[in-house]
Amino acid sequence: MNIVIFGPPGAGKGTQSNLIVKKYNLHQLSTGELLRKEVQDGTILGKEIDSIINSGNLVSDKVVGELIEKYLSNENFKNRLIFDGYPRNLTQAENLNNLLEKYDQRLNIVLKLNVNLNTIKERILARKSMEGRADDTEKLAVKRYMTYEKNIKPVIDFYKKTKLLKVVNGEASVAEISGEISGLINSIKG
Ligand code: AMP
Repeated sequence: MNIVIFGPPGAGKGTQSNLIVKKYNLHQLSTGELLRKEVQDGTILGKEIDSIINSGNLVSDKVVGELIEKYLSNENFKNRLIFDGYPRNLTQAENLNNLLEKYDQRLNIVLKLNVNLNTIKERILARKSMEGRADDTEKLAVKRYMTYEKNIKPVIDFYKKTKLLKVVNGEASVAEISGEISGLINSIKG
């Protein structure tokens, strides 16, 4: 089973992906985390990525596309991936489809977490005090939300057409959201 989970910053993608990974023995592929790792490693690419992340914009489709291909091409993860934070625009959604086809895989479900801007601000500030992410300021949270809104509409339409899209109320508690997601996954597993 391959899953896509997306939503605005602070929607709980990471938290919910972690829970899904444990419950269904999948592998989490968080493009945000992979990019932050690149930054930590201090590579030339990492320095470029750092300034993009801290501007609240998206890193290039090519860079992120290469990161996800590494995982899709790895037999150990075949049909066991949860894409957390990818795709974020139509080009990425199309690229993901092409790569899935190339490696003889498919998506089984696409989860969209809905959360409003006020909740996002609250969650991001709470997370900042725990994780200390440089891009978790209120100003950048709003910018990242706007970047999300600007790019995501065609992605939603894309997955609506494939009938894979399921919308989840991301305002509820972690346990409630997780319960709803498990119900959706179990229903497609049959
Ligand atoms: P996240 O951890 O998902 O909140 O991502 C943090 C930041 O990493 C984003 O604000 C983007 O700058 C970058 N990023 C993460 N995933 C992607 C993606 N799929 N495409 C482009 N940039 C991304």
